[in-house]
Amino acid sequence: MLELDGISITWLGHDSMKIKGDKVIYIDPWKLGDTGPADIVLVTHEHYDHCSPPDIEKIATDETMIVATADSARKLKGDVMVVKPGDTVEVDGVSIETVPAYNTNKSFHPKNSSWVGFVVTMGGKRIYHAGDTDSISEMDSLDVDVALVPVSGTYVMTAEEAAEAVNRMKPKIAVPMHYGDIVGSEADAERFKTLVSDDIEVRIL
Ligand code: ZN
Ligand code: ZN
Repeated sequence: MLELDGISITWLGHDSMKIKGDKVIYIDPWKLGDTGPADIVLVTHEHYDHCSPPDIEKIATDETMIVATADSARKLKGDVMVVKPGDTVEVDGVSIETVPAYNTNKSFHPKNSSWVGFVVTMGGKRIYHAGDTDSISEMDSLDVDVALVPVSGTYVMTAEEAAEAVNRMKPKIAVPMHYGDIVGSEADAERFKTLVSDDIEVRIL
């Protein structure tokens, strides 16, 4: 777990993250244990390891707000706020911005699918979850405290590409994800850590 001025970020495996501050936010919840209810659930795209209706049912209450891409929303029950890249929405007092997420050197995540990453602003901290993406220029202008980035290669950035993206982005803290299940291993996370510049703290969760 990563703690940052009253905000905690817990890696639940793969791309599944729980962010707890004023609100409890889950991003791409998948293969959940008993992790408690969600105030807000964010879904980056429809792939089964990111958009998992049974996992969302586990953490959703009558009050839970779900924010998802259009294709994800079609797989989910109940009210879903649909977003596309470049949106800013206020949900339950939390500001949520969407950032494009797409491949540039492979075709699993085409740009025209309008899939997203999210920047969550809570308690004055800005946390970026990149979703399934390659290193893209839209990352360069992001002003974030924490960047959660995929490092597995194959469907997303390699550790080398992710480190290069983070070095351009310059968050205070970078966290590797999208490894340890389906694709990628802890060795990718370790290699990412060695390649990120010294002024950025890398935390392997
Ligand atoms: Zn995907
Ligand atoms: Zn993925």
